[in-house]
Amino acid sequence: MPAASATIETDVCVVGAGLTGLAHAIEARRRGLSVVVLERDTRPRGALTRSCGQLPFALLPERDLEHAQRARARWLELARRARLAVSETGMISPARTEHELELLESIAAQPQRQARMASAAALTALAPRALAPALRAARGGLHAAADLRVDPRGGLVALSRLLVADPSARIEWGTAAREIEPGLVHCDALRVRAGATVVCAGLDPRRLPWPLARLLPTPALGRVQLLRIAASATNGAGGGATVTAAAALAAQPALDAVPAAVALRRRLELERPELVENGLELTAASLPGGDIVVGEVVAAREADSPFASARAETLLFSEARLLLGREPRVLERWTDIRPRERVSPRTMLSPFAGTMVVLGAGPAARAMCHVHAAAVLDELLEGAGAAAAWTRAAAGLGVAQSSIGRASRTGAPGERGGSESSRSGPSGLESHSTSRQAPAFQPMRR
Ligand SMILES: Cc1cc2nc3c(=O)[nH]c(=O)nc-3n(C[C@H](O)[C@H](O)[C@H](O)COP(=O)(O)OP(=O)(O)OC[C@H]3O[C@@H](n4cnc5c(N)ncnc54)[C@H](O)[C@@H]3O)c2cc1C
Repeated sequence: MPAASATIETDVCVVGAGLTGLAHAIEARRRGLSVVVLERDTRPRGALTRSCGQLPFALLPERDLEHAQRARARWLELARRARLAVSETGMISPARTEHELELLESIAAQPQRQARMASAAALTALAPRALAPALRAARGGLHAAADLRVDPRGGLVALSRLLVADPSARIEWGTAAREIEPGLVHCDALRVRAGATVVCAGLDPRRLPWPLARLLPTPALGRVQLLRIAASATNGAGGGATVTAAAALAAQPALDAVPAAVALRRRLELERPELVENGLELTAASLPGGDIVVGEVVAAREADSPFASARAETLLFSEARLLLGREPRVLERWTDIRPRERVSPRTMLSPFAGTMVVLGAGPAARAMCHVHAAAVLDELLEGAGAAAAWTRAAAGLGVAQSSIGRASRTGAPGERGGSESSRSGPSGLESHSTSRQAPAFQPMRR
């Protein structure tokens, strides 16, 4: 066990300052609880940074759809507070074949997905300028107006700033959680004693504090590849809708049972087997400066391979050429890890009382992260009915103090106070527990 030179006491400890971790920390502050976030990197570098930043509300699994409006409103409210750029232009998907058109029409026929069919001219007007020319040839397509897109490269910085500015929250950058036990997280030169701990360390099991990797099932991981393509000379600032290929929609778990999606998947297996083999899910979105991020190919190689696949990149490049209608000028290439199998975006596991491990994976993970965080904290804090008592005590008696300062009864600066909203229930969270006891939350007191 590492020798710790300092112990911090807090109500909630969060391991990982990626989007999932920050969502839990912000939710904890919303409930007036003090929070310490431990992040092994010295600055925000989570998976959001390396993605297109899309928040796909139209493609949520059925069980998440009823929470979509709340999740979207929460994103917009936080973005406003954090001064985080959000595009509200939605997502468009052009149809080039009859089968694609059928799939998009069947999505538009589900009113809860808030998507409608649009003409090629309408799609062209909604697209980022760099992508507009190639859309003119479409046979019409889908416009999912509720989808949002956050600035992927600025998002974690902006959300972290909200916490850093809050006296009852603290982020310890460059501090890896090495080991965890009930109520205590050990780092190299620090220990955190917390009433509740949420581990949001991303997908790589090698990064989990001991002994979690041994206790928890982890998904098989694959490698994804992405490109940043220069904006064309005529392209102005970033903006416009995210463009997603209909083939990528057909692969979404939310549409598994839709006959038109099944038919399109079958057709692709016959006609474009290399797309299916490489898991190509083509999405393109502009960054605030106008450049386009194109991704992604889930290359069929192991996540721990240090090598990117030339074949997968050639495929991505040729699809990007089709999408742009011109030769792409690649500015950056990068790879990342993603689950090879479909996993629930909301898997949470409780290795022992008072601790939850949350895997933020899958297409709904980002869009729903704040609602899922509320459900996780409900589960952690109210597992034994403790949080309700805690909230009442906090309202009537003032609130717990911790070594990072007095936890504000009214929540983080600029927030409405307390735990007012979070009785959403677990919203279908998949919960696995290796411990039998429900966690009993005790707010920290000096
Ligand atoms: C290319 C790509 C495309 C994606 N597309 C989508 C999409 O379309 N829709 C969607 O919803 N999701 C998508 N995702 C997934 C999504 O980006 C993630 O689910 C989301 O960003 C949440 O990530 P996270 O916080 O769970 O993990 P990460 O962002 O990986 O954050 C984990 C953090 O924990 C830190 N950490 C790890 N171990 C420790 C430790 N022991 N101690 C302290 N800190 C530690 C890491 O340094 C990291 O900062 C995509 C991901 C990628 C890579």
